[in-house]
Amino acid sequence: MSISEEKIKQHLNDIKEKIKKAQNRFGAKDKNVELVAVSKTHNEDEVEVVIKLGQRIFGENRVQEAYSKWPSLKEKYSDVKLHLIGPLQTNKVKDAIALFDVIETLDREKLAKKLQSEMKIANKSLPVFIQVNIGNEPQKAGVDPQQAVQFAKKCKNEYGLNIVGLMAIPPLDLPAGPFFAQLRQLANEAGVENLSMGMSKDFEEAIYMGATHVRVGTAIFGSRGQIIK
Ligand SMILES: *Cc1c(COP(=O)(O)O)cnc(C)c1O
Repeated sequence: MSISEEKIKQHLNDIKEKIKKAQNRFGAKDKNVELVAVSKTHNEDEVEVVIKLGQRIFGENRVQEAYSKWPSLKEKYSDVKLHLIGPLQTNKVKDAIALFDVIETLDREKLAKKLQSEMKIANKSLPVFIQVNIGNEPQKAGVDPQQAVQFAKKCKNEYGLNIVGLMAIPPLDLPAGPFFAQLRQLANEAGVENLSMGMSKDFEEAIYMGATHVRVGTAIFGSRGQIIK
């Protein structure tokens, strides 16, 4: 199956319009909500279609997959920013820091230590979000909500990381609103500004609850498996 560039353009315009409306209605007034276009499973040519439509922030969930398309794209479009939104293994930290601009998925102390040491070597201080397992789901990554505030402070104070916000993926089978509200509360307590929450089906609601970054894949690219041409 394939999806046309024209359709992608409509999707992007539609989403940007919805983001603006949601923000004006209830969202944070002091800053613009950033749209992170989740390009996982889409190849270099498909991603370039979306870059050419003006999109500049992208999300990938696997380091290795990101390396298959992004080095050349980033060379060509130097203002593109890439967010890591999937689990990060400590043995991939060096590669992740070399390619990504923002790490959204810090969820354990061992990883905090590794990020600290590798960023020092690379002479970088990338913005980092802490992933919170907001629904306490055993199969999901993220720190326990009860530990999130303390962990964020430790990452800032002890490991010197540039902790800019919290990120979460609420349970799929429950209404997301209460989880978004809880993440907002934790961010306030931790004293961090940004909230990465909301995906294709609930990004407007996430914005109502204070999201500063929404991670949208299928609503832009079509279902994963559809080819853009
Ligand atoms: C895939 C993914 C998304 C995007 O999901 P859609 O439902 O396609 O918008 C957002 N966040 C994370 C962490 C993802 O892995």
